[in-house]
Amino acid sequence: MPQGRYTYYDFTLSLCPQCLARVEAKIVFEDGKVWMRKRCPTHGLQRVLIATDIEYYKRIRNYNKASEYPNSFHTPVTWGCPFDCGLCADHEQHSCLTVLEITDRCNLSCPTCYAESAPDHGDHRTLEEVERMLDAIVRSEGEPDVVQLSGGEPTIHPHFWEIMDMAKARPIKHLMLNTNGLRIANDPGFAERLAAYQPDFEVYLQFDSFRPSVLSCMRGKDLTKVREKALANLNRVGLSTTLVCTLQRGQNEDEMGEIIEYALKQDCIRGVTFQPTQVAGRLENFDPATDRLTPTEVRQRILDQTPILNGNDLIPVPCNPDALTMGYLLKLEGEVFPLTRYIDPSALLDNTTANTIVYEQQDAVHQQLLGLFSTGCSVDVAQEGFHELMCCLPPVKSASLGYGNLFRIIIMNFMDAYDFDVRSVKKSCVHMVQPNGHIIPFETMNLFYRSAVQRAHLQQLRAEITPVLQ
Ligand code: SF4
Repeated sequence: MPQGRYTYYDFTLSLCPQCLARVEAKIVFEDGKVWMRKRCPTHGLQRVLIATDIEYYKRIRNYNKASEYPNSFHTPVTWGCPFDCGLCADHEQHSCLTVLEITDRCNLSCPTCYAESAPDHGDHRTLEEVERMLDAIVRSEGEPDVVQLSGGEPTIHPHFWEIMDMAKARPIKHLMLNTNGLRIANDPGFAERLAAYQPDFEVYLQFDSFRPSVLSCMRGKDLTKVREKALANLNRVGLSTTLVCTLQRGQNEDEMGEIIEYALKQDCIRGVTFQPTQVAGRLENFDPATDRLTPTEVRQRILDQTPILNGNDLIPVPCNPDALTMGYLLKLEGEVFPLTRYIDPSALLDNTTANTIVYEQQDAVHQQLLGLFSTGCSVDVAQEGFHELMCCLPPVKSASLGYGNLFRIIIMNFMDAYDFDVRSVKKSCVHMVQPNGHIIPFETMNLFYRSAVQRAHLQQLRAEITPVLQ
């Protein structure tokens, strides 16, 4: 009997990257990698690499925890996923992090920008719109875990400080500011004023590379000095900061270890988030055929470039394990200790128990950590922001540690039309609030819901399919 070229592993629905039609897709193992094979009636057969590590891809499924839902859904199930976003009643995860875009405009025009922002693009949201969106998040979540003010570049909004006050006045556990850092670097007193919003406030700072050529390719100019100045100001005022690094093959995938090493030395930095480029919006210097990176390749490269980490230090995040990978480290008196290897995976998956990081190994590092963790357990680091940064993370209990001792490595993959998987997008937990109160997954927002042209195309796609129930 002839043997197939590949091993058929799973079946899902995906999208045609050319026309965004919903198409059936097989997940197969072939050449030691995981591929999606799909066929569009108009554009034919497509084969997309979705993971370079078969064993890790299979392991992801073991980290899937019970869904948690928002207080209410906002749209009915009519056309089927992903054409009903709002969130629709078929979504399987609440908003762990909600992005609120307060402006379309930016003080840069990056060649890589999913929002296609520029100095004269679109408009600022009015204060009334921002208020409505904040209220929509609170209605949906009660006490939202993380809200991120974004754009465009949020710091150029003419009512930026009023918006910060409005956000801080809501029961948001952790507020973030997504910024390119220009104002933090260049405006005297800007960092000081931001720092006054602590605790439970953090800067999410664009930081793609140390190389001027990479920054010119992805950001349109050499921003190395801007990044240095911004970080000097953030260190000076002691404002918690996460670096966010957009990844593009051939540009910066060899710099991840160096970025982590650099970040670990900065007092203000609490972690680095790596995001493979989502094929969406403006991508002037990017070829999807050659420049995409899969999350498993990013994970392996981090492990290769960061010798202190092993395979147990970067694990799936249970609320959305396909999209998110996490690793935690402790910074103690100038030394760094990987922490994630001590997490009991079964505790992560249980929503009902008080999850804690457990320590069972009797090595030297463990003894040192155990000493720290057994000195009273009276302060819960989670209460200082650690836990809230990802709602499903375990609390760390210690009398002697603070938020400044923790360092987080996250890989955040926002699927695009190439690797889109309906099974997985239903667990998307990074969402974007809209002025009409709808809350839309980041992935589908940038494919179907952002621009008038996209929304018109969505209407066409809907017209070509038969509505589902409800
Ligand atoms: S992604 Fe979520 S909200 Fe959007 S259609 Fe699918 S299930 Fe509904």
